[in-house]
Amino acid sequence: MSATLIDGQAIAAKVRGEVAEGAKKLLERGITPGLAVVLVGEDPASQVYVRNKSKACVEAGLAVFDHKLPATTGEAELLALVSALNADPRVDGILVQLPLPKQINSQKVLESISPDKDVDGFHPSNVGQLWTGQPRFVPCTPFGVMRLLKESDTQIAGADAVVIGRSNIVGKPMAALLLSANATVTICHSKTRDLPEVVRRADIIVAAIGKAAFVRGDWVKPGATVIDVGMNRNAEGKLCGDVDFAAASERARAITPVPRGVGPMTIAMLLENTLRSAERR
Ligand code: NAP
Repeated sequence: MSATLIDGQAIAAKVRGEVAEGAKKLLERGITPGLAVVLVGEDPASQVYVRNKSKACVEAGLAVFDHKLPATTGEAELLALVSALNADPRVDGILVQLPLPKQINSQKVLESISPDKDVDGFHPSNVGQLWTGQPRFVPCTPFGVMRLLKESDTQIAGADAVVIGRSNIVGKPMAALLLSANATVTICHSKTRDLPEVVRRADIIVAAIGKAAFVRGDWVKPGATVIDVGMNRNAEGKLCGDVDFAAASERARAITPVPRGVGPMTIAMLLENTLRSAERR
């Protein structure tokens, strides 16, 4: 392996430490940053995410307001809870864990969160702010990727960046951030013609597809930085990313592993968004 490993675990710990420092300063002014976490139903993966988020908040000195609702919860009931959290002065950030049960319109719920407390950055108002270059809250995963690029001394301005995936939570905001940082950005998706050729031009590759080892080593331009957002299970049930890590590592300048790459950054940036929101109180 010739690439430098970008250690997301260590960088996330650094971010969480910065948040803890910031929270301590706010406490001197009598402010404790607060995050409300809403979980509807018993999806096992969501339960793990929510538990990890709550634990990280407490460790950084943030207050957590957990709301666990049964899977049978109706849309009106959830909207009423969000409305109460919007009005609660102790709450700086509101996170509604997705996916929501079928009877609830997720988009309607996300749009009911006050844009000033939307620490996930999914509200259309915050999406618009991001694309106009004046972000209020940046979605946590792409925000974390930008920090990884910075910490790995990746030159972004003028670079050719290829983002594979165009979801609202990863691909699109990722492209907006890279564009704001003056990269020349190409967004790829399942209908992209000759994907390997497009990827071969990239100085920065961000893979957010959801298919194990989809990006082959020979698609990686020598010296590129490779960020693997994917979280998949391979045939043996082991957690792995969207990039063929071993082969890509032979050509990349720097690369994130899976696990211990992008994953830990997502929670760290959620804490950072909550802290920033509290600082605006
Ligand atoms: P998603 O909503 O399913 O989007 C996947 C994207 O990949 C789509 O835009 C899709 O294109 C594209 N795609 C699928 N097959 C492709 C192909 N053959 N060639 C090119 N593009 C293709 O997924 P997501 O929510 O963005 O998540 C992507 C991955 O990141 C998943 O593995 C997820 O678990 C992981 N993730 C990790 C974190 C973290 O914290 N580490 C956070 C979020 C997500 P179309 O639009 O044309 O269908």
